[in-house]
Amino acid sequence: MRKPIFGGNWKMHKAIREAETLAREIRLKLEGWGKAEVVIFPPFTALKTVSGVLSGSSIGLGAQNMFWEKEGAFTGEISPLMLKDVGCSWVILGHSERRKYFGETDELVNRKLKAALHFKLSPVVCVGETLEERKKGREEEVVEGQIRESLRGISPQEAEKIVIAYEPVWAIGTGVVATPEEAQRMHQFIRKLLGEIFSPSVGEKIRIQYGGSVKPENIRGLMAQEDVDGALVGGASLEANSFVEIVKGGCL
Ligand code: PEP
Repeated sequence: MRKPIFGGNWKMHKAIREAETLAREIRLKLEGWGKAEVVIFPPFTALKTVSGVLSGSSIGLGAQNMFWEKEGAFTGEISPLMLKDVGCSWVILGHSERRKYFGETDELVNRKLKAALHFKLSPVVCVGETLEERKKGREEEVVEGQIRESLRGISPQEAEKIVIAYEPVWAIGTGVVATPEEAQRMHQFIRKLLGEIFSPSVGEKIRIQYGGSVKPENIRGLMAQEDVDGALVGGASLEANSFVEIVKGGCL
């Protein structure tokens, strides 16, 4: 049985006080509720404060990106050890916005993934096709390439610790959500691929989140699909009520 996992990706939103308030509200609303794993990903500047708010709760804390070296002359970068130091146990890698605006490639994601696993940070690896790629019927080929390259050299034992977020780029922040059937088709494809790369039993254990315009109104249909194990939520995670409605609604 895969435990559902929901992530709130706050992206470049929330000053420290706002982040503190939002984290406090989420914690209060989820206190004593354990049907799913919940992780929030505030911006770097709010990590320390949010870490304090979440201390002693079951809600995990993660960063939205990191560099692979543990320290050195890498101006502007944050290391895995720094993330651990501030209380993170998770990190998002290869989000499509990082791929699009900051030139992140599968090779860079792979280096980051190896570093995250080495330093015992749980990674959420994002994959997904663009609208043009889908229109050309290339979604499986694109996602397969992203997974094979990003996970290159990872052992089956390490692979079990990874969460994959399938996030079709055309659905991120657009209000256009994949239908439950579209999501299931891609999740099933990804699970089969992971089974081929590692082993069928490892493929069965790896959790695959859906991401892209998830809202309280559409989460139940998505979560009803066999291979959808949770969601990575952007816009709707910026407000406690909608995020918690998604988390709880996804576990009915
Ligand atoms: C995301 O950023 O990972 C995401 C899925 O965003 P949104 O929910 O806003 O589409």
